[in-house]
Amino acid sequence: MAGRRAAAESPDAAPNAAPAGATPMMAQYLEIKAAHRDALLFYRMGDFYELFFEDAVQAAAALDIALTRRGKHLGEDIAMCGVPVHAADGYLQTLIRKGFRVAVCEQTEDPAEAKKRGYKAVVRREVVRLVTPGTLTEDTLLDARANNFLAAWAELRGEGALAWVDLSTGSLAVAPVARTGRAALLARLQPREVLLRDGDGDGPLEAEIAEAGAVSTPLGAASFDSSAGAARLQALFRVATLEAFGSFARAELSALGALADYLELTQKGRLPLLAPPRREAPGGAMRIDAATRRNLELTEALRGGRADSLLDAVDRTATGPGARLLAARIAAPLTDAAEIRARQDAVAWLLERPGSRAGLRAALARVPDLERALSRLGLGRGGPRDLAAIRDGLEAAAEIAEDLGADEEPLPAALADALAALRGHEALAGRLAAALAESVPLLAREGGFIAAGFFEPLDDARRLRDEGRGVIAGMQADYARETGIESLKIRHNNVLGYFIETTARHAEAMRDPALAGRFVHRQTLASAVRFGTPELADIENRILNAGARALELELALHEELRAAVLAAHAPVAAAAGALAALDVAASAAELAAAEDWVRPEIAESRVFAIEAGRHPVVERALATAGGAGFVANDCDLSAEAEGPAPLCLLTGPNMAGKSTYLRQNALIAVLAQAGLYVPARAARIGVVDQIFSRVGAADDLARGRSTFMVEMVETAAILNQAGPRALVILDEIGRGTATWDGLSIAWAVLEHLHDACRCRGLFATHYHELTVLADRLPALFPASVAVREWEGSVVFLHEVRPGAADRSYGVQVARLAGLPEPVIARARAVLERLEARDRERSLPDIAEALPLFAAVQRAPAAPPALAEPSAVETRLGALNPDDLSPREALDALYALRALLDTARD
Ligand code: ATP
Repeated sequence: MAGRRAAAESPDAAPNAAPAGATPMMAQYLEIKAAHRDALLFYRMGDFYELFFEDAVQAAAALDIALTRRGKHLGEDIAMCGVPVHAADGYLQTLIRKGFRVAVCEQTEDPAEAKKRGYKAVVRREVVRLVTPGTLTEDTLLDARANNFLAAWAELRGEGALAWVDLSTGSLAVAPVARTGRAALLARLQPREVLLRDGDGDGPLEAEIAEAGAVSTPLGAASFDSSAGAARLQALFRVATLEAFGSFARAELSALGALADYLELTQKGRLPLLAPPRREAPGGAMRIDAATRRNLELTEALRGGRADSLLDAVDRTATGPGARLLAARIAAPLTDAAEIRARQDAVAWLLERPGSRAGLRAALARVPDLERALSRLGLGRGGPRDLAAIRDGLEAAAEIAEDLGADEEPLPAALADALAALRGHEALAGRLAAALAESVPLLAREGGFIAAGFFEPLDDARRLRDEGRGVIAGMQADYARETGIESLKIRHNNVLGYFIETTARHAEAMRDPALAGRFVHRQTLASAVRFGTPELADIENRILNAGARALELELALHEELRAAVLAAHAPVAAAAGALAALDVAASAAELAAAEDWVRPEIAESRVFAIEAGRHPVVERALATAGGAGFVANDCDLSAEAEGPAPLCLLTGPNMAGKSTYLRQNALIAVLAQAGLYVPARAARIGVVDQIFSRVGAADDLARGRSTFMVEMVETAAILNQAGPRALVILDEIGRGTATWDGLSIAWAVLEHLHDACRCRGLFATHYHELTVLADRLPALFPASVAVREWEGSVVFLHEVRPGAADRSYGVQVARLAGLPEPVIARARAVLERLEARDRERSLPDIAEALPLFAAVQRAPAAPPALAEPSAVETRLGALNPDDLSPREALDALYALRALLDTARD
């Protein structure tokens, strides 16, 4: 391979032949590199992309390839490594994944042209593309089932906006968003790269970007200029005004403009074909902050990756675009009841028609990724396979449209819209079908992708190329007939090329005036005379050039077909969108049919009534594991229009299924508002505008926060933001600190949720003491997950029942976990003592002594006086169990017991 390196370059210009100092080639390299300091420069030399100097050192380490040295620059060895062009995608993928940006520098002229300028001339090179994580378009570099967003954050006079584009699919959107909502939006989109104004990266933005798993790219202030941004967008969409797309605030134009600027910079002026910017109005989507998203494992599981996320459990889509759309819908459930119902109608229609659904899904399985093919063609990076993808996609679209349209009953609006978008592509589909061969190569320059019989000159060129000898043989027979010389031959040599040869005896006949000088004498040998004809010269030229000519014609046709596709860009993109929407609806219907899911009723009120709900991921895991199935549970948090909404206070032992129950209800709300069916017997859901989910004591060591700090920061966010339409699930809040601290915090949080936030909520806790609050807070109701005790052990029933749990069963669960028997016995003994003590100072008394939370808010009262600690407590408080030997511990216990007995007397 190394032998082919730099083959196209004149040796003098190659670095290994360079004298100390900048050779012309090195001068060119350094000039290009200077303009792309923040990227690795892939410098094209023949069949390789070479990297030099520090770039080579970094790339060699990152790619695990050999670092070599070639030539010297200013007396120093030049470090070098390279990757073959044909395998560059794989290396690019690794580098991008590792956080690099790559400037791809190509030879933009034929080396032969360069030579004409002089022996030492360097082939002209230009950076044709800057590859960054947010601007990928190649299938090999992308996940087919996930979007690849590039986002930009802008802020003008206190107003913020986030814009995002998926260059690989052409979708573009913008939303006004305050700083406080930014992290949630970034968490929803999970962009790969975020543009921000130079200097804006200090403070929380950088952390939010990193949290969302993106890299940040600072740009100069000019990129964010809102007037320039508007102009850039107008140029991008070739319109005189943006009004047709809606009215945008200045911050929105600034963010959109920054995207447009960056695309121009990275695509080197090749502007992509984007859909007009979609403006997301505030409140259009359910607000789900980053912690909730993580916690509910909507699109990604807590341990990373898609497996075992909600998305993974519900995804039955057949195509990449369908999977991406489903992910986007789950990441941003709707808040408009009518829009949700429209999506449900489509699912319902397909659910009722198993035959149509099966046909649709079979057709969809053959549909290629139209969006990405279209985008690559738009950027001039597409090839015959992308054209074939458009052909196959549009053919499938027509087939699907025919089937859908055949139904006698009227279609629901969402399906009717899809049907309309799928129709009317016959001309383009027909043209592509006629032009393209059945199977086509990836790259146009490989040739052979235009169907035989489509274009006569191409057929001729190919025939000449492939059947050159046959054509010549045909001509030989023609000439023999014409001259009557049967022994006449057409031969070829390197000096004369093709010629007609006769024996000397027949040569005279060739000069017969009747032939009117058709045969021109070229050479006389001892035994033979050679002639030429203009047709033969022509055919020779054509044979020699036929291969090149065939390719040239194919490339021209490729360009024509590409232009035809691009001219129909908007309708083809609409068809692609319709296919994705159909895929999502069919996936939801398929799932509902297979798993017995139902259509949730969406209401404007604050109802929340789930009958026999299930957790989609846990249920699936249990089914896979075999054994007992999932136990379905009801949940009713329906609220009046005004006033506090029901809060369920859920108690029960560890492992009983509290977390599962909490999450399943939140997930059902997410699925319902995404427009999907839900795992329940029946569900009525009044639109939820925000969901919060927190788990006590989750560590976030990476961010340097202690367990308890994380818990409190997240809880604070909920208490400050949750409104009457929110759904809040809190799992063991307060667990991360000492018992009394934790209990007090949980207590106050419940009161605040009840009185101030007034939201629907589920609160799981180990603090049984909190159940006394149910008497004080009218909308708080206790529920517990049932267990049965059997032979000193617990049996989990997983059933949620009204009323508080009688006890924790922690010790029994510890036994199940295999703690040694002496430890269990000891724990039982300690527990008995502690419970005896608790009974003496009952919490209802304390509750009585405390003013209601709302009253505290109105007129801050002095903290309630707690009783003086008893002698036992004082002694107990002074003990540090970790410092005691077993003997000392036992002594201390006897001493405590004695103190207690004295106190009782
Ligand atoms: P902890 O207090 O220890 O966090 P928990 O009460 O929150 O426990 P979960 O984590 O929700 O309990 O559930 C424990 C396990 O019980 C689950 O992994 C699942 O296997 C099983 N489980 C939970 N709910 C159900 C159910 N409704 N039907 C069947 N199995 C269930």
